[in-house]
Amino acid sequence: MKTHVRVLVIGGGVVGVSTLYHLTKKGWTDVALIERTELTAGSTWHAAGLLPLFNMSYTVGQLHKYSVDLYKRLPAETGQDVSFHVTGNLRLATCRERMDEYYKYCGTANTIGVPFEVITPQRVKELWPLVELGGSGDTPAIIGALYHPDDGHIAPADLTMALRKGARAAGAEIYEHTEAVGIERTASSEWRVRTGKGGEITAEHLVLATGNYARQTGGLLGLNVPAIPVEHQYIVYDESPELKAYRKGGGRELAVLRESDKSYYLREERMGWILGPYERGAPARFADGVPEWFGRSLFPGDLDRLVPHVEAATRRVPALEHCGIKDIVNGPISYAPDGSPLIGPAWGVRNVWLNEGHSFGITAAGGAGWQLAEWIVEGEPGIDMLAVDPRRFGPYTSRRYVVQKNEETYRNVFTVHFPDEERPDGRPAKTSPVYDKLSAHGAVWGQRYGWERANWFAPPGVERRDQWSFRRTNYFEHVGSEARRMRERVGIIDLTPFTKHEVTGPGAQAWLDRLVANQVPTRIGRMALSHALTPRGGIRSEFTITKIDEQHFYVVSAGAAERYDSDYLRKALPADGSVGLRNITNTRGCFVLAGPKSREVLAQLTDTSLDNAAFPWLTAQVIEVGLAVDVYALRVNFVGALGWELHFPIEYAHHLFDALFEAGRPHGIGMVGMRAMESLRLEKSYRMWGSDITPDYTPFEASLDRFVRMKKGAFIGREALERQLASGIPNRFVTLEVREVTDADPLGNEPLFDQRGRMIGRATSGYYGHCLQKSLAIGYARTELATPGTELSIEILGERKPATVLPESPYDPENLQLRA
Ligand SMILES: Cc1cc2nc3c(=O)[nH]c(=O)nc-3n(C[C@H](O)[C@H](O)[C@H](O)COP(=O)(O)OP(=O)(O)OC[C@H]3O[C@@H](n4cnc5c(N)ncnc54)[C@H](O)[C@@H]3O)c2cc1C
Repeated sequence: MKTHVRVLVIGGGVVGVSTLYHLTKKGWTDVALIERTELTAGSTWHAAGLLPLFNMSYTVGQLHKYSVDLYKRLPAETGQDVSFHVTGNLRLATCRERMDEYYKYCGTANTIGVPFEVITPQRVKELWPLVELGGSGDTPAIIGALYHPDDGHIAPADLTMALRKGARAAGAEIYEHTEAVGIERTASSEWRVRTGKGGEITAEHLVLATGNYARQTGGLLGLNVPAIPVEHQYIVYDESPELKAYRKGGGRELAVLRESDKSYYLREERMGWILGPYERGAPARFADGVPEWFGRSLFPGDLDRLVPHVEAATRRVPALEHCGIKDIVNGPISYAPDGSPLIGPAWGVRNVWLNEGHSFGITAAGGAGWQLAEWIVEGEPGIDMLAVDPRRFGPYTSRRYVVQKNEETYRNVFTVHFPDEERPDGRPAKTSPVYDKLSAHGAVWGQRYGWERANWFAPPGVERRDQWSFRRTNYFEHVGSEARRMRERVGIIDLTPFTKHEVTGPGAQAWLDRLVANQVPTRIGRMALSHALTPRGGIRSEFTITKIDEQHFYVVSAGAAERYDSDYLRKALPADGSVGLRNITNTRGCFVLAGPKSREVLAQLTDTSLDNAAFPWLTAQVIEVGLAVDVYALRVNFVGALGWELHFPIEYAHHLFDALFEAGRPHGIGMVGMRAMESLRLEKSYRMWGSDITPDYTPFEASLDRFVRMKKGAFIGREALERQLASGIPNRFVTLEVREVTDADPLGNEPLFDQRGRMIGRATSGYYGHCLQKSLAIGYARTELATPGTELSIEILGERKPATVLPESPYDPENLQLRA
């Protein structure tokens, strides 16, 4: 056994072996993998082997597509067959919401190039003659289906062996029966892994790919990894006479069938079937680690839980009635609280990488190995990985939270994934101090990064509940009222969840300047919207940097980016101690007070002069408001109105809230929620970190040129931007007015087409602009098609709508209100 390698992968399931394989593909061959027992002994050996391309996430969709393409090539490359049955995959729809979901998905699929067809019930019957189209009694009529001709199922163990063969041929080593039992940092900042056999391997980089053991392995490094498995069962049926007859008559292998509205999948297996339900009541397992006795074991089958799904499947495919049950496979399937895997750097420790939490690990393994290897070798992934970055979760992922969320995620695998869905479990967890006050104002809550956030406020007498939809729905008009309140009078948004850092010390200015593309403010009271770039020039973070004092900066970023940004900043700190960094997210609250009357409201509570000469737009002061001291008042906001963000010591939250409301009452002050903010920011073309600005696009593509100072000296990503300037900027940010919309506004991830019907970009966000009374989208189009006035079209829920490129900031383009 080697005692030193460049990368050591821990865990020999399909995900670990794929990571090893892809590291060798990147040319890193001094790599090894250790497995506690035998390869595939975890969840991999008993997986059903389905490879569903369907996924609502732009990132995960790309990973799955890569996998399916790779698995087709692997046998020729390695000489190892993987039993990939390209049967196609049919997802049935029996209600309009399901069809909307499929059409929404089609937008994402189009933008990433996944082939699919939306088909009629008649075509379903042609492809799947043994299915009942339904329409009576307990079997609802199939109204359409989504068909992926390219996917199917594979033998997970064979796939792992093919990846193993490829990795070993390139020089990687694999040691079975070698368990990692201890991990420590060496004096030279490498990782020393002690194995159960008493040996040691030292590595520059560690990859944890330990499936159901993720919490134990993470624990060796002090990491609370939010991955806990849930039981998943499938039933293996005996031979089916009807299926045999169909195949004997020349029928091809049937597509994998999913009746999403009844939450099960069905595929052929040796002239019989495998039926896999995602049922209610499946318990999380191993929250405290996998017991020693489990090994390759399975749980006993629990048929009672499956009965409703078996009955539904039998009504849909009566052939099931004539087959006996051969076996029930019930195994642990790893989950993270939002159902997507954890792929990327671990937080707080250097050169430790996670490839954990895979619930569709056979499907994801290829893509997950591909991008993680890219990240390790190149220092950044090749695609936007924010949706799977392990740092999208924070310290709030308590054991109970993860258990509740994972069980909820499991039973919702097949429910309709509404874009405005807010799942209830594990809530409320993190709340702003004025949570009860907002509830008293009618808040209808959502959750992000563990925080409760008011999405909208139900006026008295209106039911405080969302009716989730892909279309305009029950809260539409109330969101409109909130948006108009902000534009016409004055409103408050509670943005306490913002991520907030304090950067201090003699080296602070120079350090920040190297991290971001904009000029860091040099004068006290100045602020700058700044972007930290990846070495390839993509936008990794967005910070509002305010200079509070000499050697003291206040750095604000997205609430959901707390661990992501904090980890990045901490790892980037200079070693000489010249910069101090403090995460003060939980010590300061934030209220946005904005609207034409906001100055009059605030003026009643402060002695600080608020007129334009004393307190101009884009400046900040530390002021007193009411009885509160040390309030950072920033004259900026994300809604494009006169106003201030008040960042206050958290203990003043109640006082400030009451004082602002009292002062604002004569001016018609009211609460404004996240959905109205979405509408308002789109009217101003403001880009949202994580959806509109991501590592996939440079600040030039995002048309944020005015926030880039190429001449200021070195900063991360500058060389890449220089190269892009020299070679030409391929895409540009666009704001679009979408016409002929009746009830379905764009929401993001819709493809854009030119006049000749060619796909030329994608929308990254969209909403109804309530004040402009226009349906709006923002996104990226090829540069030559990004000039105002260009006519494009956008596909919303399967229908092409005309869209015109507008000049940036369709509402108040001169920023007169901001400067008022
Ligand atoms: C019943 C069932 C059906 C499924 N069907 C599908 C499907 O159809 N399609 C699909 O995409 N997915 C499916 N899955 C999910 C899929 O099985 C998993 O997502 C996938 O196998 C995860 O692979 P992995 O490599 O992450 O984990 P695992 O396969 O669990 O591998 C982790 C490995 O790490 C090893 N290990 C742990 N700790 C240590 C240590 N300290 N030192 C050394 N080694 C260690 C373990 O022994 C194990 O071999 C199914 C799961 C179940 C339970």
